[in-house]
Amino acid sequence: MSNITDYKEAVDKGVFRDTLASVDKRGKRNWIYAQKPKGKFYKIRSFLSVFYFLLFFGLPFIYVNGRPLLQVDIPNARFILFGKLFLPQDFFIIGVGMITFILFIVLFTAAFGRLFCGWACPQTNFMEMMFRKIEYLIEGDAAHQKMLSKAAWTGNKIFKKTTKHIAFFLLSFLIANTFLAYIISIKELEKTITEPVSKHIAGFTSIIIFSGIFYGVYAFFREQVCTAVCPYGRLQSVLLDKNSMIIAYDYKRGEPRGVAKKTAENIFGDCINCFQCVKVCPTGIDIRNGVQMECIGCTACIDACDSIMTKIDKPKGLIRYASENSIATGKPLRYSTRMKFYTLLCVVAISLLTILIVTRKDIDATVFRTPGMLYQERGKDSISNLYNIKFANKTLKELPLTIRLKDGIGSIQMIGKPVIHVEKEGQGSGSFFVILPKNMIHERKTTISLALYEGDKLLSEVKTSFLGPVE
Ligand code: SF4
Ligand code: SF4
Repeated sequence: MSNITDYKEAVDKGVFRDTLASVDKRGKRNWIYAQKPKGKFYKIRSFLSVFYFLLFFGLPFIYVNGRPLLQVDIPNARFILFGKLFLPQDFFIIGVGMITFILFIVLFTAAFGRLFCGWACPQTNFMEMMFRKIEYLIEGDAAHQKMLSKAAWTGNKIFKKTTKHIAFFLLSFLIANTFLAYIISIKELEKTITEPVSKHIAGFTSIIIFSGIFYGVYAFFREQVCTAVCPYGRLQSVLLDKNSMIIAYDYKRGEPRGVAKKTAENIFGDCINCFQCVKVCPTGIDIRNGVQMECIGCTACIDACDSIMTKIDKPKGLIRYASENSIATGKPLRYSTRMKFYTLLCVVAISLLTILIVTRKDIDATVFRTPGMLYQERGKDSISNLYNIKFANKTLKELPLTIRLKDGIGSIQMIGKPVIHVEKEGQGSGSFFVILPKNMIHERKTTISLALYEGDKLLSEVKTSFLGPVE
């Protein structure tokens, strides 16, 4: 295997940290023929990936209160989460969401390393659990794939390669459609597919572009996404520390590597230098060189090494989930206080975000006094202020809205129609006077509460200030 030869050479020269397994000495792509892993972790990951794919392909079909469970409508700046609509007016929640997301990534990675990459990342799941498995099915394991690539273009090769690429493109097409459904909703996607192309040029073009991108990624670009493009992968070097959980080679137990001759004294550690851990690695690295940015935490090397350890009658876990410190001290990895604390912070941040999302109101109202106006005298005993109001209706029905003073003293005089109609998922605005008796005004600025009603149903309350003549 060329990647192994390169790595042996790189390790011998001690330059492995400056060498990418997927790039040869001339700077050309070194295709990784990863051997099919077998073992406990691969079985669990395969099992979980079924749920993952069901979730990915099924989620756009789930509707709550007439809306998709999840929709990320980036072109229209609309987000739907658990059937609730979020508009740019919800920037506070979106901001908290982004901070939570960043905090979660930093804390989770500091504690659990690249657990996400190996178990939950769509790229890893689609690549390793879907496309790679189809490749094994059509072209065989790594050695057969390599032989087939080097072979002349016979009928058998043409058949296998064509079948694989057709299967890859069809799957990419399916993923592209699902991906688009998360943006425009499954109902819009259905229209895009069933109605004339001329009516859905943007949707149709998106499907073609997304299909091309996914096909390019899974058929050709592959592990390069993780090793050269993904920003999360690039952040590992600053997010991990010596206590982070990583997939690590126990060098204390494994070194020096080698197999003792039957007659000679065994001066070697448990690593027999069989390179099985490298052969299964989808990014082509040698985990024995220590933590590396290219490691996506897929656990394939754990399975490979465990099976070797079983064969040579040694304890499993030469490669295992551990921290650099736990390997150095020989102590087992524990769910440390630090991990517990980081987990707690993640839970608090997510709980806070959940509370904000669940308690978010369906009507947003922003009231502000008309700029440049102070107050108006209304006869001898009253004063008025002029206000503008803006509404965002996040429900799926048109709302006829009226404004009332919450504590009932004084009155509202609308400019124009007494009822403001705000269309579903739309915005509306209006202007009105608040008229208060002079004897209520004891300060220059008095806080007043306005109530928004749909008929007799109170929808929301909003506070504003009322300007009076009192100094
Ligand atoms: S699979 Fe295990 S024994 Fe074989 S080279 Fe890797 S670490 Fe050593
Ligand atoms: S080093 Fe092991 S865990 Fe990391 S990517 Fe390679 S096989 Fe997966």
